Amino acid sequence: MAEHLLKILIIGDGNVGKSSFVHRYVNGQFNKMYKMTVGVDFSVKLLQWTDKEKVRLQLWDVAGQERFISMTRIYYKGALGCVMMFDVGSLSSFLSCRLWKQDLDNKAMLPNGASIPCILLANKADLAERAVSSENIDSFSRANGFVTWMETSVKENRNVGESMRRLVQEILMVK
Ligand code: GDP
Repeated sequence: MAEHLLKILIIGDGNVGKSSFVHRYVNGQFNKMYKMTVGVDFSVKLLQWTDKEKVRLQLWDVAGQERFISMTRIYYKGALGCVMMFDVGSLSSFLSCRLWKQDLDNKAMLPNGASIPCILLANKADLAERAVSSENIDSFSRANGFVTWMETSVKENRNVGESMRRLVQEILMVK
């Protein structure tokens, strides 16, 4: 049985739902209470990927950052994939993704020199008030080299497992 160990970064402004996403994905729960995370959280999820392959995901949640701040290289070291998240109700959290992506591409690369696969998640899709249109997200995603983008609602458990499967698929393909 082969086991892949994949370090995955969870990036984005504060309050967009990153720690809720990780919590939902790893524990299957949604916690309504706001929790200000301090430092870097690190969660593990084990997947039976195929009959012969297991995938051990290390999810690194960059925490306690309200806005974009350039991250230290240590954080990026060895990462093979990235989840970048914004809140569809917050234009500024969407605009920050450009900076987060530049920082990521400047500091993290695969052993072969390619940029690491990154999926863009438009979270809080359950909200009625949208600050960003699908057209905008779509063109931003294409222009900035994301694997793809998906709407998610951690609250309603929409596209949480699906988006992670899509990312892992891509990581294993380019690894
Ligand atoms: P982080 O700072 O990016 O880690 O964000 P949190 O996971 O702490 O979430 C910030 C707030 O958004 C919390 O009050 C969550 O309950 C809420 N939240 C997270 N995901 C969703 C979602 O999909 N829909 C809605 N409506 N609220 C969400």
